[in-house]
Amino acid sequence: MNQYQEQFRDFMEDKGFHVTRQRLSIAGLLSEMESHPTIDELHDNLREIEPSVGQATVYRTLKLLKDAGLVMELRIDDGATRFETASPHKTHGHLVCRNCGIVVEIQISTLKKAQAELAQEHGFTLDVQANCVYGLCPDCRI
Ligand SMILES: [Zn+2]
Ligand SMILES: [Zn+2]
Repeated sequence: MNQYQEQFRDFMEDKGFHVTRQRLSIAGLLSEMESHPTIDELHDNLREIEPSVGQATVYRTLKLLKDAGLVMELRIDDGATRFETASPHKTHGHLVCRNCGIVVEIQISTLKKAQAELAQEHGFTLDVQANCVYGLCPDCRI
């Protein structure tokens, strides 16, 4: 069990929820995936290790992880919600292609600096939670 799975297990035990192997597998897989998977992608990958897990279980587990503050949702223009583990050590920004949905991680300091400059210029106080910037990736820019 990795550290992420342990945090999830502790949360579940605290709340009195069932700690099942399937739920732990889902948490483990998410913590290992470098991409920012959608529920479908997570489910597809999961089938190799837990063939009997249905999408509803994946969905419910992600909701529990969210309640535990262990997962972050990226809402993307194509309608898909992507997920990644939330961790204070792993803060970064995202460049998101609005056409194909590819997500590129960028340095948060760079993004924050640009935002601060924009805010100051326009007298705004910014309340940015997801740290996503949208555009078109090189493959989609024809
Ligand atoms: Zn693209
Ligand atoms: Zn990310």
